[in-house]
Amino acid sequence: MIQHNDYYDLLKNNILWTAEKLKTDSGYFKELSLAQKPKFLFIGCSDSRIPLDLITGSEPGELFVHRNIGNQINLTDMNLLSIIEYAVELLNIEHIIVLGHYNCGGVKAAVTGLNEEDIVENWVSQISDLYHYHRKELDAIEDKAFMYNQLSEMNVILQIKNLLRTPIIQRAFRKHKKIWVHGWIFDINTGLINDLTLPLDEWKAFDLLPEEYH
Ligand SMILES: [Zn+2]
Repeated sequence: MIQHNDYYDLLKNNILWTAEKLKTDSGYFKELSLAQKPKFLFIGCSDSRIPLDLITGSEPGELFVHRNIGNQINLTDMNLLSIIEYAVELLNIEHIIVLGHYNCGGVKAAVTGLNEEDIVENWVSQISDLYHYHRKELDAIEDKAFMYNQLSEMNVILQIKNLLRTPIIQRAFRKHKKIWVHGWIFDINTGLINDLTLPLDEWKAFDLLPEEYH
């Protein structure tokens, strides 16, 4: 693996990247500067091992992104709510993907805790509640790494439920806007994405869609 020990390496790489892009398309940046028309909103974990563009083969302008520790959708998070609203109302994005991952430090911290004074422990309290709610079945799993991965998957489903509860998505449903929500898990051990998305009927069973969808 290439190590970028020197801070200036990043800036040098930026120059090399622009040169490479211009070599194949001299109008690349001019076109990119005109507008963004992403088709996908990603809500993912901040973990540095998940370069969204690379793992999905995407180009600049294709993904609208929000990331936080534990890929959480907190209904009081104005930052995230603004992003979802902008994505749905202005960019007319139809696919929202909640992307969790295995070996997630945020999920682990929600179970084991950190130091009392660490703010991150407050941030992941939602995942901590999820763990405690399912503690019996999760603690019965002997392989602890597998247990954390199971909790990561449960967290993705929980965050999708939160997403469906936001006034923005509820409004979009009432207006019959086309919106698809997806839950993915990135497996750092293989580089592959597992699709956890449930069919629409299953979401109906969770009682998360507006009445007219029932
Ligand atoms: Zn993570």
